[in-house]
Amino acid sequence: MSINKEGHLKNKMPKNPALEERINWHITHTKNCSCREMPESIRREIEKRKKGELK
Ligand SMILES: [Zn+2]
Repeated sequence: MSINKEGHLKNKMPKNPALEERINWHITHTKNCSCREMPESIRREIEKRKKGELK
């Protein structure tokens, strides 16, 4: 586990984030940092979008 502090400073989670904002945050976060895993619920939402179930 490693925390990318700079990545966290640049990628702030908004207060009361909408689902889309949480998804985008986790996508960016995963690219920059490995301090925590992407939650299963977020992964599922990303899969749905890849399959085109939600637009
Ligand atoms: Zn992190």
